[in-house]
Amino acid sequence: MTGTRVSPRSTARSARAFEAARAVIPGGVNSPVRAFRAVGGTPFFVDRGWGSRIRDIDGNTYIDYVLSWGPLILGHAHPEVVEATTRALEMGTSFGAPTVAETELAELITESVPGVEQVRLVSSGTEATMSALRLARAATGRDKIVKFAGCYHGHADLLLVQAGSGVATLGLPDSPGVPAGATADTIVAPFNDVEAVRAIFEEHGEAIAAVIVEPVAGNMGLVPPVDGFLQGLRELTAAHGALLIFDEVMTGFRVSPAGAIGLYGIQPDLVTFGKVVGGGFPLAAYAGRREIMEHVAPSGPMYQAGTLSGNPVATAAGIATLRVLRRPGVWDAIAAQADRLVQGLRRAARDAGIAMQATSVGTMAGMFFLDGPVRSYDDARRSDTGRYARFFTALLDRGVYVAPSQFEALFLSSAHSEADIEETVAAAAGVFRELSDR
Ligand code: PMP
Repeated sequence: MTGTRVSPRSTARSARAFEAARAVIPGGVNSPVRAFRAVGGTPFFVDRGWGSRIRDIDGNTYIDYVLSWGPLILGHAHPEVVEATTRALEMGTSFGAPTVAETELAELITESVPGVEQVRLVSSGTEATMSALRLARAATGRDKIVKFAGCYHGHADLLLVQAGSGVATLGLPDSPGVPAGATADTIVAPFNDVEAVRAIFEEHGEAIAAVIVEPVAGNMGLVPPVDGFLQGLRELTAAHGALLIFDEVMTGFRVSPAGAIGLYGIQPDLVTFGKVVGGGFPLAAYAGRREIMEHVAPSGPMYQAGTLSGNPVATAAGIATLRVLRRPGVWDAIAAQADRLVQGLRRAARDAGIAMQATSVGTMAGMFFLDGPVRSYDDARRSDTGRYARFFTALLDRGVYVAPSQFEALFLSSAHSEADIEETVAAAAGVFRELSDR
């Protein structure tokens, strides 16, 4: 049984594959966190996935709580997604001309999420947030944007600013290659701190085009908004003629069937989607009120385009995923598993005397190794990352794959069964006991 299996896993094939990859791909991976740097060890190379499981090329299987970093809300290779995408593949993979499926996906989104009237499909979350900010600047005629420490919105130059504890820090780039000019108009505030944002508006109010926020932060671990935070952002932006952008690339269709907009009943001006909306394919979107979206070319002057935008295979995957998700009971059952997982982890940690905070919001979950609440990036960084790394590796040896970094969320899918959760909690309980013995 997976829950009681102990190390060592065989990793010889993955180790060889990693070595070969490193020769031709920087760091051996096509996105940094895949390299397991934060937790140590060699990343496993995936052979295949089905339902809640993935198998690596050494033959180890894992219950998967990463799910491609969120998209696979129906699990791996869901039959209806496979069927819809296969059908689309056979019809031709890309046209660069409109298809009716794109309208259908846009309608599914506007029907699902209150206040969203028009949708532009793009190919990645990065593109969605970058375009939404260009649109906010175009629509307001202003340059400055406000983001929050610990919130990730993709790797566009203007957004590669995170740090800056304390009140309102003017942004300096986080990466070489980002010119200081690219982030000069990016202001960073602490998450969950409305007063800091108020102070920023008092100083720069006339120049701020938009505030962009992960309404439930999922890129510093899982950190929900405190009461009044999102409402405060709504009021401040409205009062100063700035736009409010919810980056729901991660939370869309996950924290509620209508994302954070549905969960908290707060209406941003623009919203970005990704991950779930593409059903595991490269598809994302930015969306919002018609009067703002109509600034986008060719309706309006703001330029944004894409060779593969609205790609028919990706669009088919998105439609199939959202349709299944809308069936009565499907989303609720996933959220119930997330809750069950969190309750189980809390119990297991308490029994072993381990200080751990676990939370779920809808179908997402998160955990930190510390005492006390986590409301900001500064709080999140107090988590014992060494302990998380040991937890991650020991759990992997027991057949459970959680994010290879403390500062990521856990994702559930409709394929995760009660038995999966029980197995996971039993595995975690074993790891917690080991950790508490040290
Ligand atoms: N916004 C958020 C909230 C995200 O979590 C991510 C990716 N994890 C992005 C934007 C960027 O999306 P992508 O990786 O598809 O470019």
